[in-house]
Amino acid sequence: MTHTEILMSAGFGQDELAHGSLSVRTPVDGTEIARLAVHDPSDIPAISAKSRTAFAAWRQVPPPRRGELVRLLGEELRAEKENLGRLVTLECGKILQEGLGEVQEMIDICDFAVGLSRQLYGLTIASERPGHSMRETWHPLGVCGVISAFNFPVAVWCWNAAIALVCGDSVIWKPSELTPLTALACAKIFQRAAARFGDAPGNLLQVVIGGRECGEALVANDNIALVSATGSTRMGAMVGPVVAQRFGRSILELGGNNAMIVAPSADLEMALRAVVFSAVGTAGQRCTTLRRLFLHDSIHDSFLQRLITAYESLPIGNPLHDGTLIGPLIGRQSLNAMLDALAQARAEGGTVHGGEPTLQDTYPDASYVAPAIVDMPAQTAVVTQETFAPILYVMKYSDLADAIAAQNDVPQGLSSSIFTTDVREAETFISVTGSDCGIANVNIGPSGAEIGGAFGGEKETGGGRESGSDAWKGYMRRQTNTINYSRGLPLAQGITFDF
Ligand code: NAD
Repeated sequence: MTHTEILMSAGFGQDELAHGSLSVRTPVDGTEIARLAVHDPSDIPAISAKSRTAFAAWRQVPPPRRGELVRLLGEELRAEKENLGRLVTLECGKILQEGLGEVQEMIDICDFAVGLSRQLYGLTIASERPGHSMRETWHPLGVCGVISAFNFPVAVWCWNAAIALVCGDSVIWKPSELTPLTALACAKIFQRAAARFGDAPGNLLQVVIGGRECGEALVANDNIALVSATGSTRMGAMVGPVVAQRFGRSILELGGNNAMIVAPSADLEMALRAVVFSAVGTAGQRCTTLRRLFLHDSIHDSFLQRLITAYESLPIGNPLHDGTLIGPLIGRQSLNAMLDALAQARAEGGTVHGGEPTLQDTYPDASYVAPAIVDMPAQTAVVTQETFAPILYVMKYSDLADAIAAQNDVPQGLSSSIFTTDVREAETFISVTGSDCGIANVNIGPSGAEIGGAFGGEKETGGGRESGSDAWKGYMRRQTNTINYSRGLPLAQGITFDF
């Protein structure tokens, strides 16, 4: 399919994409695929006021009925999976299988949220006073602002929106300025679900097209009760304090620097496949991408050699084509950051395999690159940074405790994994003295999380949790109720206060 056909099949008319100051380019070949009008930061107060009005109505809709809207959204997404998946590939460059997988993740979280809409459980709590009962109840929170990154242009929105909507919140979404088309396509899909639903308030979902300035205006706006921001640690370091200053709530999902330990007892065939997928999937542009590999010294040399050989056979190319496993980087800036990191790694004693720009003749305006493996003598400065590109630093260890300490000795704390068949090692890795990450896996790689668990990480990754488990509590406000059904007024802690 041509780029235009992909855009048309995702529901865009040609006129919609022809005017405006934002030039949208596909990383597939670097061509401009749309021009869009952008919002101005001064638009945000009116947008947030409309969202508050939508919230005032939506919060009164019974949660299982709210779930029905999300069920319809899931149905619409099922019908649009191919079209939206292909648009994801066109706009952010991940291979089609991963574009489709991202839409599947949206469908999965909708299913989860529908069930959740009947399970927003509170507690009953034992009261110390006779004739009293205590409860904990959960109420809708308010307007939820979602700021998303380019690399998961649609799933991250849906993780937030599906949960926020069943929780009774309205949503304002500011997608990455690099991936506005997928957001507009999602808004069309949402509108179809809302039309079938019938009586959803207007402006329950609004999309803000624009860059950082629009994000800043959202973050500072008092109407927005919750800011769920996904992106770089640099962005989170700016967002967190601004939201805290106005006593708003934030969920921060920031950069990762994820590691894997391969122990001597590991199933090495499985480990090899897991390393390759985790390190080069999405061309190394996942927050959970494997970036640091600790190999036991008894297997280091042979495993590294097999890895280098496996990398040489990986098909790099147009992500829309069958058989491609590695698509382009999002843009020239990412390619330059990768080349700079490799230069620094060499200066810090690393030996680089791969990492050369490629396909420049076929796609001169795109940024394709061979993934790199860097054999490092130690965890030097460059290894402790997240470079958002396919660079895998490989290091040697002899003692598991040292490997775990090195794994934890970075500012980020998103995802981690160990390959071992030794139950002591596996349990140690996920124990209190093990990985310090939000995600710690055994015998699978650090990337590719399922929606059922709470997703997020510690330290510079921001501490937020979204998606499954009880992450929904972040989208609601907790209320403690004490009910006196006696004829007396006993005070807590046995205090007497007679007058
Ligand atoms: P980015 O930080 O450049 O941009 C992310 C979003 O934040 C964009 O919408 C951008 O417009 C907005 N933004 C930037 N500065 C802002 C500010 N000061 N105030 C408000 N909004 C602002 O990130 P990116 O390059 O799009 O994405 C890659 C990064 O995202 C990587 O670091 C990756 O690890 C991280 N990421 C994290 C997760 C996670 O769940 N932890 C998931 C995906 C991506």
